[in-house]
Amino acid sequence: FHERGWIVKRTALSAGRTALINIHSGESWTYGELYNRIGRWVSFFREKGYVKGERVVVYSPNTIELFAVLFACERMGLIYVPLNWRLSLPELQGLLDDCGPIIVLFHKNFEQSVQLLNVHEVASLSIAEKFECARNIEPLPEVDCSDPWMIIYTGGTTGVPKGVVLSHEAVNWNALNTIASWGLSENDTTINYMPLFHTGGLNALSIPLLMAGGTVAIGHQFNPQEALEATNQYEATISLFVPTMYQMMIQTDYFKASNFPSMDTFLSGGAPCPETIYTAFQRKKIRFKEGYGMTEAGPNNFFIRPDDAAVKVGSVGKSMLFNDSKVLDLDGNACSRGEIGELFLKGPHMFTCYWNKPSETNDALHDGWLRTGDLAKIDEDGDTYIVGRKKDMIITGGENVYPQEVEQCLIAFDGIQEAAVIGKEDDIWGEKVVAFVSLYDENRGNEDMILTHCKKSLASYKIPKEIIIIPELPKTHVGKIDKNELLKWKQNR
Ligand code: ATP
Ligand code: MG
Repeated sequence: FHERGWIVKRTALSAGRTALINIHSGESWTYGELYNRIGRWVSFFREKGYVKGERVVVYSPNTIELFAVLFACERMGLIYVPLNWRLSLPELQGLLDDCGPIIVLFHKNFEQSVQLLNVHEVASLSIAEKFECARNIEPLPEVDCSDPWMIIYTGGTTGVPKGVVLSHEAVNWNALNTIASWGLSENDTTINYMPLFHTGGLNALSIPLLMAGGTVAIGHQFNPQEALEATNQYEATISLFVPTMYQMMIQTDYFKASNFPSMDTFLSGGAPCPETIYTAFQRKKIRFKEGYGMTEAGPNNFFIRPDDAAVKVGSVGKSMLFNDSKVLDLDGNACSRGEIGELFLKGPHMFTCYWNKPSETNDALHDGWLRTGDLAKIDEDGDTYIVGRKKDMIITGGENVYPQEVEQCLIAFDGIQEAAVIGKEDDIWGEKVVAFVSLYDENRGNEDMILTHCKKSLASYKIPKEIIIIPELPKTHVGKIDKNELLKWKQNR
């Protein structure tokens, strides 16, 4: 569709309603105020003389000011590029060299570090205060819906983060699809502690909810207790967290004591969700759903009808209204029901390309279908289950082992907090199954007890040949378990 005007219409329609809240400071903007802030950034960009297609980097922790920059970029045809502030300076420089921004807008916390980066120009995020709201923030006529609106870098779980180019059209379709399939409305409020430089923080719920006219309360830095308190304080109705965050939240006394009366649905995504988290919510009779997402594809692709929530543990449900998915075997044929194959996705919310990476783009996109690199299966009812990353699959003695299945079994052991399973090269087995686990406390399990537990439910070839107990599993900058780090660690031993 060729409509780029929704933010202006929404800020007019919902002018008096709350759009955004900084949980940390309590500052909040109505939609009318959001319009005003966008207008100031438009004035700034116009004074600078920036033209369509130039990249505007933001280097900032979570704050609502980022949404004003985001929508001003939309008006101007500029490409919004949020960077992961947790990266080291050389890593950040690598991404800056990749996207070549016209300006880096930094948060005051990063005033020192931004000086150490080699970039064209920098300015503080507070600079917009010096500008009046532009009288007219109509979009530039030469900007097309298929032009890029943002570059979001992937999580970097499997290597250096790739810059995913998302057009206006893709972002808007993801939002529309999410509103329609997840049933969002102006009566919804979300508590968002997911980083805004990541698709999970920006595109999974925040932009869709702003399109719907709801309220987005932004957390500054994740803290389990604070996130749960904010859920009740702001009467949140829908929130998304990654499993690691849920693991921390369900341990708090606050979680045990509250029933979160305003909450309609807690969503999990970004990584496989342990069954213990489902159980914690089922006990409280609070709706909990698992989602699957990917920077390149929206990220949202599936939905679970409210009545079906948590009926099927581990299922991410069915394709959304305006997109499609399929699971293919190694030869490219459709898998039969229950058979594991590679997941492919299609729809108007798909990314355009990887920035500066034509061969990676060619490998990923075929006839509009995205090859996800993830394994999945579809059951008799058409519900999809994510099985894990293709490159994580272990072949041991000729048998396929999907680490996620073994990890789920390990986490079901009472004392285990987190588990990660990798394959290690082995002369006899080709690869052997190795498990890394962390315990809630060191007296709650040992290797023998864990092995006995695994033998109860896993086929013998899936049982870890080695179990390594460590205090905490390494995480990537977006909080996913870092298997590359574990592989390196294992090889160096
Ligand atoms: P990179 O592409 O740089 O290696 P990444 O794939 O982690 O990083 P994202 O786009 O943020 O970057 O994450 C998408 C991936 O996260 C999916 O391809 C999938 O492997 C994993 N994932 C997302 N949701 C789920 C889920 N519910 N269950 C299992 N895995 C999931
Ligand atoms: Mg990826």
